[in-house]
Amino acid sequence: MVFKSPVGTEEERNSGKIWPGGWSDAQPYNTHYDYGYHTGADLNWNTPRWDADKHAPVYSIGNGIVTYAQLFSTKYWGNIIVIDHGMVDGKPLFSRYGHVEKINVVVGQSVTAEDRIAGVGDGNGIFKNNHHLHFDISATNKLSSTPHYWPQEDRKGLQAHFVNPRDWLRQQHVVDGIAVAEDTLASNVITNNVTDNTPQAVKPSATSTVWYVIASSGVTVRKNPGVSGEEVSILPRGSKISLEAQAGNQDGYTWGRISGGKFHGNWLAIFKQDRSESYASTNPPRI
Ligand SMILES: [Zn+2]
Repeated sequence: MVFKSPVGTEEERNSGKIWPGGWSDAQPYNTHYDYGYHTGADLNWNTPRWDADKHAPVYSIGNGIVTYAQLFSTKYWGNIIVIDHGMVDGKPLFSRYGHVEKINVVVGQSVTAEDRIAGVGDGNGIFKNNHHLHFDISATNKLSSTPHYWPQEDRKGLQAHFVNPRDWLRQQHVVDGIAVAEDTLASNVITNNVTDNTPQAVKPSATSTVWYVIASSGVTVRKNPGVSGEEVSILPRGSKISLEAQAGNQDGYTWGRISGGKFHGNWLAIFKQDRSESYASTNPPRI
């Protein structure tokens, strides 16, 4: 079966790159934040302006049948869509799309990867000024019985019912059965302008992602996540760095840990938790 990214243009989705275009994941799978452990990806596109992803099309990741498509709560989720993709690799497979707007499908409807099922929303106003798609993949029947299932602090529940959606889409079920040649991000990581070229330089880990400093006055690198963390350096706007998926929240900022290069293991603020300011992006800044 063909599976594609839930967001992106036709060309981007067909490229098999996960996440495609300028989409980035603000809260990767299995990271801990204010609401517990995150079950999937929070897909965002915030360049050249904040919330550029507002109303962007959301697609089914593959063939399936809609099992839930309605407002769940104006406090937590807003609208939720759940799609049953049948058995994949001997296991059930469900995909879930949260905070969406303009639901375009009904329960019982058959969909394909080409079907626009909704738009990127703000959870009926819950995430005002921070439109994003909450997207996750479950390899159990949990979302069939409990479409709003959320493990909170139950990490075992998270791991029992959800898979890493990025890895899953990337490694196992890419477009038209063609395994996407090593992720383009991972292969482009090394030549960054803050890596020193000594032989013992640390290479970015395979799970890290390329980011760019977009803050006009640069961003401070610190030994620890938090505004009291000792200052190591300042990376100017346009600096290319690799950040580990595990981002931490501290002092009102979401922090990323640098992977590889001479600042390996140090931290920088990616954005303010209220999303009012952003310091790094997976898209290079427009000079
Ligand atoms: Zn989310």
